[in-house]
Amino acid sequence: MSLADVIASDRPLRVAVLTGAGISAESGLRTFRGNDGLWEGHRIEEVATPEAWEIDPQNVWRFYQQRRRQLSEVDPNPAHFALAELEDGVEDGCFTLITQNVDDLHERGGSRNLIHMHGELRVVRCEECAHNFEAMGAEHLADDEFIPCPECGHEKVRPDIVWFGEEPYQMDDLMQAVIDCELFLVVGTSGHVHPAAGLLGLARMRGAYCVGFNLDPPLNVGYFHEFHEGAAGELLPPLVQQLIELDIQP
Ligand code: NAD
Ligand code: ZN
Repeated sequence: MSLADVIASDRPLRVAVLTGAGISAESGLRTFRGNDGLWEGHRIEEVATPEAWEIDPQNVWRFYQQRRRQLSEVDPNPAHFALAELEDGVEDGCFTLITQNVDDLHERGGSRNLIHMHGELRVVRCEECAHNFEAMGAEHLADDEFIPCPECGHEKVRPDIVWFGEEPYQMDDLMQAVIDCELFLVVGTSGHVHPAAGLLGLARMRGAYCVGFNLDPPLNVGYFHEFHEGAAGELLPPLVQQLIELDIQP
Protein backbone atom coordinates (compact mmCIF):
# COMPACT_ATOMS: atom_id res chain seq x y z
CA MET A 1 0.00 0.00 0.00
CA SER A 2 1.28 3.47 -0.86
CA LEU A 3 -0.04 6.99 -0.47
CA ALA A 4 -1.22 6.90 -4.08
CA ASP A 5 -3.25 3.71 -3.36
CA VAL A 6 -4.95 5.34 -0.36
CA ILE A 7 -5.95 8.33 -2.39
CA ALA A 8 -7.14 6.24 -5.31
CA SER A 9 -9.23 3.87 -3.18
CA ASP A 10 -11.12 6.18 -0.85
CA ARG A 11 -13.38 8.99 -1.99
CA PRO A 12 -13.95 11.40 -0.48
CA LEU A 13 -10.69 11.10 1.44
CA ARG A 14 -10.89 11.92 5.12
CA VAL A 15 -7.72 13.39 6.58
CA ALA A 16 -6.69 13.96 10.19
CA VAL A 17 -3.48 15.66 11.25
CA LEU A 18 -1.77 15.78 14.65
CA THR A 19 0.84 18.48 15.23
CA GLY A 20 3.20 19.22 18.09
CA ALA A 21 5.72 21.83 19.13
CA GLY A 22 8.10 20.88 16.29
CA ILE A 23 5.87 22.47 13.64
CA SER A 24 6.29 25.87 15.32
CA ALA A 25 10.05 25.54 15.82
CA GLU A 26 10.87 27.15 12.46
CA SER A 27 8.71 30.11 13.49
CA GLY A 28 11.03 30.67 16.42
CA LEU A 29 9.03 29.01 19.21
CA ARG A 30 11.16 26.53 21.05
CA THR A 31 10.01 22.94 21.43
CA PHE A 32 10.08 21.37 24.74
CA ARG A 33 11.78 18.07 24.37
CA GLY A 34 14.04 19.18 21.54
CA ASN A 35 17.38 19.10 23.29
CA ASP A 36 17.24 20.00 26.94
CA GLY A 37 13.87 18.73 28.19
CA LEU A 38 13.00 22.27 29.23
CA TRP A 39 10.32 24.64 27.95
CA GLU A 40 12.04 27.99 27.29
CA GLY A 41 14.46 27.22 30.09
CA HIS A 42 11.85 26.06 32.61
CA ARG A 43 11.26 22.63 34.08
CA ILE A 44 7.78 21.43 33.13
CA GLU A 45 6.84 20.70 36.74
CA GLU A 46 7.49 24.35 37.60
CA VAL A 47 5.23 25.88 34.97
CA ALA A 48 2.84 23.35 33.47
CA THR A 49 1.14 21.50 36.31
CA PRO A 50 -1.84 22.31 38.58
CA GLU A 51 0.51 21.85 41.54
CA ALA A 52 2.82 24.60 40.29
CA TRP A 53 -0.18 26.94 39.96
CA GLU A 54 -1.22 26.04 43.50
CA ILE A 55 2.22 26.55 45.03
CA ASP A 56 3.60 29.48 43.04
CA PRO A 57 0.94 31.06 40.80
CA GLN A 58 3.02 34.21 40.26
CA ASN A 59 5.83 32.20 38.68
CA VAL A 60 3.43 30.25 36.46
CA TRP A 61 1.58 33.42 35.42
CA ARG A 62 4.84 35.22 34.57
CA PHE A 63 5.87 32.29 32.36
CA TYR A 64 2.59 32.29 30.43
CA GLN A 65 2.52 36.08 30.13
CA GLN A 66 5.92 35.79 28.42
CA ARG A 67 4.62 33.04 26.12
CA ARG A 68 1.49 35.11 25.37
CA ARG A 69 3.52 38.25 24.52
CA GLN A 70 5.85 36.15 22.35
CA LEU A 71 2.95 35.31 20.00
CA SER A 72 3.08 38.79 18.48
CA GLU A 73 6.76 38.31 17.63
CA VAL A 74 6.36 35.14 15.53
CA ASP A 75 4.65 34.21 12.29
CA PRO A 76 3.34 31.00 10.74
CA ASN A 77 5.92 29.12 8.64
CA PRO A 78 5.55 27.12 5.39
CA ALA A 79 4.43 24.02 7.33
CA HIS A 80 1.44 25.84 8.85
CA PHE A 81 0.51 27.27 5.45
CA ALA A 82 0.85 23.86 3.79
CA LEU A 83 -1.67 22.30 6.20
CA ALA A 84 -4.15 25.11 5.49
CA GLU A 85 -3.69 24.47 1.78
CA LEU A 86 -4.29 20.77 2.32
CA GLU A 87 -7.52 21.57 4.17
CA ASP A 88 -8.66 23.71 1.23
CA GLY A 89 -7.94 20.81 -1.11
CA VAL A 90 -10.00 18.24 0.82
CA GLU A 91 -13.77 17.99 0.56
CA ASP A 92 -15.66 20.06 3.15
CA GLY A 93 -16.07 18.27 6.46
CA CYS A 94 -13.31 15.75 5.70
CA PHE A 95 -10.37 17.45 7.40
CA THR A 96 -9.49 17.78 11.09
CA LEU A 97 -6.34 19.36 12.45
CA ILE A 98 -5.57 18.34 16.02
CA THR A 99 -2.80 20.34 17.64
CA GLN A 100 -1.02 19.96 20.93
CA ASN A 101 0.29 23.47 20.43
CA VAL A 102 -0.97 26.34 22.49
CA ASP A 103 0.26 29.00 20.06
CA ASP A 104 -2.08 30.46 17.42
CA LEU A 105 0.06 29.83 14.33
CA HIS A 106 -2.29 27.29 12.73
CA GLU A 107 -5.25 29.68 12.73
CA ARG A 108 -3.02 32.51 11.51
CA GLY A 109 -1.78 30.16 8.77
CA GLY A 110 -5.38 29.72 7.58
CA SER A 111 -6.46 26.43 9.18
CA ARG A 112 -10.18 26.30 9.99
CA ASN A 113 -11.26 22.97 11.46
CA LEU A 114 -8.79 23.01 14.32
CA ILE A 115 -8.84 21.38 17.75
CA HIS A 116 -6.52 22.82 20.39
CA MET A 117 -6.41 19.74 22.59
CA HIS A 118 -4.06 21.36 25.11
CA GLY A 119 -5.77 24.76 25.18
CA GLU A 120 -4.66 28.15 23.87
CA LEU A 121 -2.29 30.83 25.07
CA ARG A 122 -4.68 33.55 23.91
CA VAL A 123 -7.41 32.44 26.30
CA VAL A 124 -7.73 32.64 30.09
CA ARG A 125 -10.26 31.01 32.36
CA CYS A 126 -11.69 31.58 35.84
CA GLU A 127 -11.46 28.63 38.19
CA GLU A 128 -14.32 29.97 40.32
CA CYS A 129 -17.03 30.54 37.70
CA ALA A 130 -15.53 28.85 34.58
CA HIS A 131 -15.84 32.05 32.53
CA ASN A 132 -13.26 32.05 29.75
CA PHE A 133 -12.24 34.81 27.39
CA GLU A 134 -9.50 35.96 25.03
CA ALA A 135 -7.13 38.26 26.89
CA MET A 136 -4.67 39.59 24.33
CA GLY A 137 -5.27 43.33 24.67
CA ALA A 138 -2.48 45.71 25.62
CA GLU A 139 -4.11 46.03 29.04
CA HIS A 140 -3.77 42.26 29.58
CA LEU A 141 -0.19 41.90 28.37
CA ALA A 142 1.44 45.05 29.68
CA ASP A 143 2.78 43.47 32.87
CA ASP A 144 2.76 40.26 34.91
CA GLU A 145 -0.02 41.32 37.28
CA PHE A 146 -2.83 38.79 37.69
CA ILE A 147 -5.98 39.49 35.67
CA PRO A 148 -9.14 39.40 37.80
CA CYS A 149 -12.26 37.64 36.51
CA PRO A 150 -14.63 40.20 34.92
CA GLU A 151 -17.64 37.96 35.65
CA CYS A 152 -17.31 37.01 39.32
CA GLY A 153 -14.48 39.22 40.50
CA HIS A 154 -12.19 36.34 41.50
CA GLU A 155 -8.69 37.79 41.99
CA LYS A 156 -6.97 35.84 39.22
CA VAL A 157 -7.80 33.91 36.08
CA ARG A 158 -5.52 31.07 34.93
CA PRO A 159 -4.15 30.32 31.47
CA ASP A 160 -6.63 28.16 29.53
CA ILE A 161 -3.94 25.54 29.07
CA VAL A 162 -4.27 21.81 29.72
CA TRP A 163 -1.51 21.11 32.21
CA PHE A 164 0.10 17.75 32.88
CA GLY A 165 -2.37 15.58 34.75
CA GLU A 166 -5.42 17.42 33.32
CA GLU A 167 -7.75 16.05 30.69
CA PRO A 168 -7.26 17.34 27.12
CA TYR A 169 -10.10 19.21 25.42
CA GLN A 170 -12.51 17.71 22.88
CA MET A 171 -11.25 14.16 23.28
CA ASP A 172 -14.48 12.66 21.86
CA ASP A 173 -14.35 14.84 18.74
CA LEU A 174 -10.69 14.31 18.06
CA MET A 175 -10.79 10.56 18.61
CA GLN A 176 -13.73 10.30 16.22
CA ALA A 177 -11.75 12.20 13.58
CA VAL A 178 -8.81 9.81 14.06
CA ILE A 179 -11.05 6.74 13.90
CA ASP A 180 -12.81 8.00 10.75
CA CYS A 181 -9.79 9.12 8.71
CA GLU A 182 -8.10 7.23 5.90
CA LEU A 183 -4.97 9.37 6.03
CA PHE A 184 -3.33 10.41 9.32
CA LEU A 185 -0.40 12.81 9.30
CA VAL A 186 1.71 13.46 12.40
CA VAL A 187 4.06 16.45 12.43
CA GLY A 188 6.66 17.69 14.91
CA THR A 189 5.82 15.73 18.01
CA SER A 190 8.15 13.59 20.09
CA GLY A 191 5.51 10.97 20.95
CA HIS A 192 6.12 11.32 24.70
CA VAL A 193 3.00 13.18 25.84
CA HIS A 194 -0.13 11.09 26.36
CA PRO A 195 -2.93 10.75 25.38
CA ALA A 196 -1.83 12.63 22.22
CA ALA A 197 0.93 10.12 21.51
CA GLY A 198 -1.61 7.26 21.59
CA LEU A 199 -3.59 8.71 18.66
CA LEU A 200 -1.09 7.31 16.16
CA GLY A 201 -1.62 3.76 17.41
CA LEU A 202 -5.39 4.31 17.31
CA ALA A 203 -5.28 5.58 13.73
CA ARG A 204 -3.13 2.66 12.66
CA MET A 205 -5.38 0.13 14.39
CA ARG A 206 -8.47 1.64 12.73
CA GLY A 207 -6.93 1.29 9.29
CA ALA A 208 -5.60 4.77 8.44
CA TYR A 209 -2.48 5.20 6.35
CA CYS A 210 -0.08 6.91 8.77
CA VAL A 211 2.69 9.29 7.71
CA GLY A 212 5.09 11.01 10.11
CA PHE A 213 7.34 14.08 9.79
CA ASN A 214 9.84 14.92 12.50
CA LEU A 215 13.39 16.13 12.93
CA ASP A 216 14.27 12.81 14.54
CA PRO A 217 12.39 9.53 15.03
CA PRO A 218 9.71 9.94 17.72
CA LEU A 219 9.14 7.36 20.45
CA ASN A 220 6.25 5.73 18.55
CA VAL A 221 7.90 5.78 15.10
CA GLY A 222 7.13 2.07 14.58
CA TYR A 223 3.43 2.79 13.95
CA PHE A 224 4.02 4.83 10.78
CA HIS A 225 3.63 3.38 7.29
CA GLU A 226 6.01 6.14 6.16
CA PHE A 227 8.30 8.27 8.27
CA HIS A 228 10.08 11.34 6.85
CA GLU A 229 12.98 12.71 8.85
CA GLY A 230 13.59 16.45 8.54
CA ALA A 231 12.16 19.92 9.12
CA ALA A 232 8.40 20.28 8.78
CA GLY A 233 8.69 23.56 6.85
CA GLU A 234 10.73 21.78 4.19
CA LEU A 235 8.86 18.47 4.08
CA LEU A 236 5.21 19.49 4.21
CA PRO A 237 4.88 21.88 1.24
CA PRO A 238 6.04 19.27 -1.33
CA LEU A 239 3.92 16.56 0.33
CA VAL A 240 0.82 18.74 0.07
CA GLN A 241 1.62 19.51 -3.58
CA GLN A 242 1.95 15.78 -4.20
CA LEU A 243 -1.43 15.09 -2.55
CA ILE A 244 -3.13 17.82 -4.56
CA GLU A 245 -1.60 16.48 -7.78
CA LEU A 246 -2.85 13.00 -6.85
CA ASP A 247 -6.27 14.63 -6.87
CA ILE A 248 -7.48 14.31 -3.31
CA GLN A 249 -10.83 15.79 -4.22
CA PRO A 250 -12.98 13.91 -6.72
P1 NAD B 1 8.10 18.01 22.02
O1 NAD B 1 8.85 19.25 22.34
O2 NAD B 1 8.05 16.91 23.00
O3 NAD B 1 8.68 17.40 20.66
C1 NAD B 1 8.88 18.23 19.55
C2 NAD B 1 9.44 17.34 18.45
O4 NAD B 1 9.56 18.15 17.29
C3 NAD B 1 10.83 16.78 18.76
O5 NAD B 1 10.82 15.38 18.52
C4 NAD B 1 11.74 17.51 17.78
O6 NAD B 1 12.78 16.69 17.29
C5 NAD B 1 10.78 17.84 16.65
N1 NAD B 1 11.17 19.03 15.87
C6 NAD B 1 11.91 20.10 16.26
N2 NAD B 1 12.02 20.98 15.24
C7 NAD B 1 11.33 20.44 14.20
C8 NAD B 1 11.08 20.87 12.87
N3 NAD B 1 11.54 22.03 12.39
N4 NAD B 1 10.34 20.07 12.07
C9 NAD B 1 9.85 18.88 12.51
N5 NAD B 1 10.08 18.42 13.77
C10 NAD B 1 10.79 19.20 14.59
O7 NAD B 1 6.67 18.49 21.59
P2 NAD B 1 5.25 17.80 21.75
O8 NAD B 1 5.35 16.38 21.40
O9 NAD B 1 4.30 18.69 21.04
O10 NAD B 1 4.94 17.90 23.31
C11 NAD B 1 5.17 19.17 23.95
C12 NAD B 1 4.05 19.65 24.85
O11 NAD B 1 4.42 20.98 25.28
C13 NAD B 1 2.75 19.80 24.12
O12 NAD B 1 1.76 19.35 24.98
C14 NAD B 1 2.57 21.31 23.89
O13 NAD B 1 1.29 21.73 24.33
C15 NAD B 1 3.58 21.99 24.77
N6 NAD B 1 4.38 22.98 24.00
C16 NAD B 1 3.78 23.76 23.06
C17 NAD B 1 4.51 24.66 22.29
C18 NAD B 1 3.78 25.51 21.26
O14 NAD B 1 2.58 25.68 21.37
N7 NAD B 1 4.48 26.02 20.23
C19 NAD B 1 5.89 24.77 22.49
C20 NAD B 1 6.50 23.97 23.47
C21 NAD B 1 5.72 23.07 24.21
ZN1 ZN C 1 -15.07 34.12 37.58
